[in-house]
Parts: sequence; structure tokens; C-alpha cells
Amino acid sequence: MAKISENLIQIQQRIDEAKKRGNTSQQVTIIAVTKQVSVERTLEAIENEIVHLGENRPEGLLAKKEEIKDNAIWHFIGSLQTRKVKQVINEIDYLHSLDRLSLAEEIEKRAEKTINCFVQANVSGEQSKHGLDRDEVLSFVQSLSQFSKIRVVGLMTMAPNTDDESVIRKVFSDLKQLQQQVVELNLPYAPCTELSMGMSNDFEIAVEEGATFVRIGTALVG
Ligand SMILES: *Cc1c(COP(=O)(O)O)cnc(C)c1O
Repeated sequence: MAKISENLIQIQQRIDEAKKRGNTSQQVTIIAVTKQVSVERTLEAIENEIVHLGENRPEGLLAKKEEIKDNAIWHFIGSLQTRKVKQVINEIDYLHSLDRLSLAEEIEKRAEKTINCFVQANVSGEQSKHGLDRDEVLSFVQSLSQFSKIRVVGLMTMAPNTDDESVIRKVFSDLKQLQQQVVELNLPYAPCTELSMGMSNDFEIAVEEGATFVRIGTALVG
């Protein structure tokens, strides 16, 4: 296994180059997705000044938090079952998978503070992917006004698993367009300034298209 310090240097370089290619200047935050690695490996990430950690299962998140007392910022990136909300909602700093009203209702009931949420969109339209259809996103965000605990910080998507770069790029640029449409709604609870997109295989394209959070597992800690 390569050292995380070395992986991180390379990833940061690739992000900087992608920003130049994309002619963009946004700040890009790396979330280390630790769902497949040990507590020890996660601590190695923290030693390298990575503060944003991502987990996709409640059990995994809670197990890591049990062992890791450092001031990490925790992102829940997987789909969240309604019945599991109470286990995790007060343990996380960001939720990347808000995709239905029933989930928002349960968050409202269980959260003890405002929860920073990304609304997940299924831009590619793949059956297997979670998230709202693109044409549901705006009305969904508007319907969240009734929930005092939900703050829509941005949109999240996953690109399809394909070698066709143009398909991936279109998904990311479409998400950016949607994000700008949400911004234009000017909703106090939905500043929607952030874009959570890009993983190990496609983060450079995501950054070129404006990603502000990239979720990287394999290439960083794997
Ligand atoms: C696992 C996962 C990632 C990271 O995937 P890698 O390909 O290992 O970088 C990012 N986002 C989500 C939602 C994931 O489940």
C-alpha cells in the first residue's frame, strides 16, 4: 500500500492541474472515503492533515467514530435508510444523500442541530443510482422550506461507470447548472454553493466542471 502522504501530494497536484485546465478557481475540499479501510489507515490520513472523512454505512461511521477522537469532520455519503437516521444524524457534519421527503421528515424529528445537506441528484438517469431525477430537484428543494433543521449546502451526484469521458463530463456540468438554478431561487435555507462530485476515477473531470468537494477512496487511502 502506498503512503497516504504520497497519494495526497499526487491528488493535490492533479486537482491543481484540473483547475487550470477547467479555468476555475474554486476551493476544492478532499473527503477521504474510509469505508473500505481500517481505523489505523484512517488515522494515517488524519496524520496527513486530512480532516474530512466519508463513510457510507451507519455501522462503519459509528465504529470509526468510536476509535477516532480527533476533530475530524464527518460526511455521510451513502444512501440513508429512514429507520437509521436516529443512529447517525447527530454524529455527522454533512449528509450527501438527501433524496426524499420522508428522509427530510425523519431528520427534522431527530436532529438536535441544523444539518448540512447535499441534495442527491441522479443526473445520469441510471436505474441503479440513488437520487432525484434532474427535473425533480428544484421543486424538492423548494419543498424543504418546512424543515427548520435542514440546510441545503449543495448538490451531489455520482457519474456513471463508463470510459466515455464526455458522458461523465456532461453529468457534472448538468449538476453545476442545476446548482446555479437552486442558487437563483434565493432560498435562505438553501444557499447551495457546493458541488459534491468526483471519485477516484473521475475527480479531475469533476474539478474541471466546478466540484468543491471530491470524495476519494481508492486513490487516496485504498
Ligand atoms: C465509495 C464511494 C466513493 C469513493 O469511491 P472511490 O472510487 O474509492 O474513490 C465516493 N462516493 C460515494 C458515494 C461512495 O460510495
